[in-house]
Amino acid sequence: MTEGEIAQRPPSVDALARALANEVDLPHAVLVDCARRAISQQPDNAKELAARLAGELSASLMSEVINATGVLLHTNLGRAPFAVSQGRRATAVEFDLADGSRGSRHTSIAALLQMLTGAEDALVVNNNAAAVLLVLSALAEGRGVAVARGESVEIGGGFRVPDVMRRSGAQLIDVGTTNRTRRSDYEEACEVAENDIAMLLKVHPSNFSVEGFVESASVRDLATLSPVLAVDLGSGLLDSQAPWLPADMRPLPSWVSDEPSVKQSIEDGADIVMFSGDKLLGGPQCGIIAGRQELIERCAKHPLMRALRPGHHALVPLQQVLLSYLERDVTETVPFWAMVSTPIVTLERRAERITTAAQFGEMRPSLAVVGAGAAPAATLPSWAVVIPGDASTALRNARPFPVIARVSDGSTWIDLRSVDESNDRYIIDALIHLRQ
Ligand SMILES: *Cc1c(COP(=O)(O)O)cnc(C)c1O
Repeated sequence: MTEGEIAQRPPSVDALARALANEVDLPHAVLVDCARRAISQQPDNAKELAARLAGELSASLMSEVINATGVLLHTNLGRAPFAVSQGRRATAVEFDLADGSRGSRHTSIAALLQMLTGAEDALVVNNNAAAVLLVLSALAEGRGVAVARGESVEIGGGFRVPDVMRRSGAQLIDVGTTNRTRRSDYEEACEVAENDIAMLLKVHPSNFSVEGFVESASVRDLATLSPVLAVDLGSGLLDSQAPWLPADMRPLPSWVSDEPSVKQSIEDGADIVMFSGDKLLGGPQCGIIAGRQELIERCAKHPLMRALRPGHHALVPLQQVLLSYLERDVTETVPFWAMVSTPIVTLERRAERITTAAQFGEMRPSLAVVGAGAAPAATLPSWAVVIPGDASTALRNARPFPVIARVSDGSTWIDLRSVDESNDRYIIDALIHLRQ
């Protein structure tokens, strides 16, 4: 064999996989797969291709990152940052500790929600889209559901009210016009016998706002009509008074005080409300259905419930968040409300400390947003560390935690309102690395 032939001989799969292990931290079997694919596709260039395949796979894994986008509830970054760590123990999800018998996974959460919102009962499913589907299926299948034309909306990710309605077997009855709908429009729809209206559904237009010549019927207006009144609140603000926010945040910003809340909707006469766990509530991904006991029971007994029920990985953090609301320490223990309530001077001081420590970047006032389609027009004052040019790729390559920044006006903005202070040291390290 000549020297040339030796050099050209493709490397062995195993040798290549072992070489990759120095560059990427993935299980050996995964590296073997990358090596095998690379050798079969490009035997002459197998080493480079294998490294690229392994690198791409590694980058595509879900990992912890620092959200410096200034979008507090970033849908692509898991919305509300919330997690509880548990020991290697089981969870008494459906187990009654008092007598050792089988319990219900909803009892404790329903009791907590009752104290917080006045709802008679509650049920938790995987997300709010599932909550809407279940409520329509269990309470209106084969019958009519009146929805204002201006609320027959798309929430995002292909979740459209008319489509969900069709899937549930309920029939959408449009009422009013795109910009104006009154109580009398619902009333007239109810009087048409063939409509057979089981439910009036109000949908909060979370992710857009309409201005000008607009009118809609309030929950209070509709509560006096006879069909079940269901409200898809989306955002999951428990109480528009936000009694958990500190005194120096009063008067409350309008994105809080104007947001329809669970408590006030129930007080105004909603029979059933639905909302997300990982938007303004600040908890794990789940959907919560709260309201009149008889209606909740019908939802709980529906066959779809078995397919939509969440696991303890969602229920345990949800329970913890609800306890925090009752403890009134949400601004310390629920990351979303901690971000919202951080005083602007604290963010300014952090920006100063980061730029001084890194000897790189410039501190500038910034505007953060709530995100997750909640309060789309609202901004929160913030401070950012700004570096010239587009450094987003380099920051995404930061380790141990990639820093996800915002690029605008030809600069890269590291917005501190969406970053917990404990991560500032990683930002400093990433900036020092960039500077070099
Ligand atoms: C966000 C939202 C949904 C969907 O909630 P998920 O928890 O994402 O499934 C449905 N309705 C409204 C009004 C929303 O704002």
